[in-house]
Amino acid sequence: MSDLNTQHLAFKQQLFDHKLLFGSGVNGIVGRSSKIVELVAALHGMVDKESVKDGAQKVAFPPVVPRELLRTVGYMNNFPQLSGSIHSFSGDDRQHLALQETVKNGEDWSPHLSQTDVTLTPASCYPLYPTLAGNLPEGGALFDLNCYCFRHEPSNDPARLMSFEIRENVRAGSPEEVQKWRHSWLDRGHNLLESLGLSVVLDTASDPFFGRGGRMMKASQKELELKFELLVDIWGKDNPTACASFNYHQDHFSHLFGIHLADGADAHTACLGFGIDRLVIALLKTHGFDMNAWPASVREKLAL
Ligand code: AMP
Ligand code: ZN
Repeated sequence: MSDLNTQHLAFKQQLFDHKLLFGSGVNGIVGRSSKIVELVAALHGMVDKESVKDGAQKVAFPPVVPRELLRTVGYMNNFPQLSGSIHSFSGDDRQHLALQETVKNGEDWSPHLSQTDVTLTPASCYPLYPTLAGNLPEGGALFDLNCYCFRHEPSNDPARLMSFEIRENVRAGSPEEVQKWRHSWLDRGHNLLESLGLSVVLDTASDPFFGRGGRMMKASQKELELKFELLVDIWGKDNPTACASFNYHQDHFSHLFGIHLADGADAHTACLGFGIDRLVIALLKTHGFDMNAWPASVREKLAL
């Protein structure tokens, strides 16, 4: 077993032993104690203060999206390995008996189900784009979203979950407006995480596009600097963890959903995402389990 895996397992066990998180028996699905609920609220409060300065408009979607949205954005081409389809039973009494038999035998029950119209939300920003179809107001628009997202990447790492919150801001506007906004957030985000006493570096990054075709997508995303990440040292300098991402989509979503500027030209979009659950783990690993004993500057920043 690798050192890193041993570290992950040991720290996760400590979190459970201290009753900060509750295990579910499945990797990547954890419950939060009241202390962690409080810390999550504090992290959102900290982001609130920043987003409000920009006049971001809050929008809240549930953790499921229409299945057709994933088809439109090409999710099954790019990230099928992370997807979370939702299936349900729509058979008759005879088929129900067969289903129950399968369940009782401990077998895979999926052959008895059929696909529903919804899937689990993979990123907080996805459900927003279709709602922006049409002309944006002069100066574009800025939104603030938060959602539990699902990605099928079970892991022993307590900072890599299958169900976790991504606090996002989405900017839509002219290429200049959108690039300027993303650029300014690279520094703001960096400062924000550093003010939490975390060891942070900024780097270009790529999304985990699937398969051989995905390799080219990853390379071009990096080369064009379409994705930056703030990497935090949770498990040692050689294994930094992305705790925030800053993505420039150019006109990708605008083409798919018909998003235009006030003058009718194609809009551009960008989003940023804070991995709330990762920040929780980074803070606990860096400053210890007793939040009352955290450095005063960190407690102040989080208004704890
Ligand atoms: P992404 O859309 O991949 O850029 O993800 C946005 C942010 O969500 C990342 O910067 C991470 O902080 C966080 N994140 C991504 N995947 C996971 C995961 N499996 N568990 C916890 N947080 C995650
Ligand atoms: Zn996004």
